[in-house]
Amino acid sequence: MKNRQKNRLLSAKNPDLRLRNFLKVMAKNTFRTTLFGRAALPVWLALITFGLTELFSSYPQLTETVYSQTLYPLFASVLSFISKWVSFSLDDVFYALLTVFLISLLILPLFTKLKWGKSLFLFLQTAAICYALFYWFWGFNYYRSGINERLSIAKSKPDTLQLVRVFEKLIAETNASYCSLDSISKPEMVGMVESSYKQHASFLKINYPQGTRVPKPITLSSFFAKASIAGYYGPFFGEAHVNDSLLMMEYPAVLAHEFAHQFGVTSEAEANFYSWLVCSHSNSKHLRYSSNLGTINYFLSQSRHLHNFADLVHQIDKPVIDDIRKVQKHWADMRNEQIDKAAGKVNDVYLKTHKIEKGIEDYFGVVQFVMDFETDSVAQKRVFSSSLQ
Ligand SMILES: [Zn+2]
Repeated sequence: MKNRQKNRLLSAKNPDLRLRNFLKVMAKNTFRTTLFGRAALPVWLALITFGLTELFSSYPQLTETVYSQTLYPLFASVLSFISKWVSFSLDDVFYALLTVFLISLLILPLFTKLKWGKSLFLFLQTAAICYALFYWFWGFNYYRSGINERLSIAKSKPDTLQLVRVFEKLIAETNASYCSLDSISKPEMVGMVESSYKQHASFLKINYPQGTRVPKPITLSSFFAKASIAGYYGPFFGEAHVNDSLLMMEYPAVLAHEFAHQFGVTSEAEANFYSWLVCSHSNSKHLRYSSNLGTINYFLSQSRHLHNFADLVHQIDKPVIDDIRKVQKHWADMRNEQIDKAAGKVNDVYLKTHKIEKGIEDYFGVVQFVMDFETDSVAQKRVFSSSLQ
């Protein structure tokens, strides 16, 4: 006689055994529902996403082909199509609602009939969905190939003489492009940055237009200014945010940096390089001056150890020096030391968890990329010829 038939006969005679069997089946079903039911889907989605981050980080070329060049442009187009209809930041609204919802989940069991188990499970589900969406909508770009490989720019060897030569060229270009940006409107600058991105899309390996970019002011601009945050990218709705407190001379460079993030560039150093290349190779003097002014600050802080540092500073024209000081004073006046330090720490941890080993030091990596570009004559010719197409 088969085991199952035997059990059935025994349990018919024995009610205790029947109850035990019933409980066993129930436990099995509960286990199955918990693990494979609809409620477990977000957790599975997060686990699959985590598996993909491990896979993509091991194979940057795969990330580049499958995600950055194929899937991401589709997500960017759809998200920016949704967010372009409203002038305020959907990302900021989303963060606010998410914070209220998550805090409520941790408080409600204290005052209502909501059980702790249910509340924590909802918390876990929400966190899992956000984690997965972040990567699918943008974050996998963290694992794409590096800029040198992607744009075929040869890496330059560390060389002080080359650094001085490139720095001197940058100083000369900054002096030559000096102008006031106060008479230009923000929409005009957006148009100029867009047209320069379009012009250099082929060199920068961008599937232009890849959606629409409508820059939005940071909702709490003055608070973020206390933390020295000039802009940020909102990945959940594909939004480029720019701080309302920016001086006009900073605006185009920051805007082009945030647009680079929308084009799928996650690294801060690379976004700085995209901004520099797009603005400094623009037909507009205003864009050239804004990006040169921003980049010169990175070169100044990376060259302090040079014995001829004072001579280099001496080559910068007085009106440009005045503008550098004006920008520094502007941000120093708005800065709150504690908030700035805390925000810097958060950003540092954020970047490091996304495998950017240098953390906030990553922003300074632009000096290396500008050096690489300025010492690679083939890459420079390609920028020139791609802009003629
Ligand atoms: Zn950035």
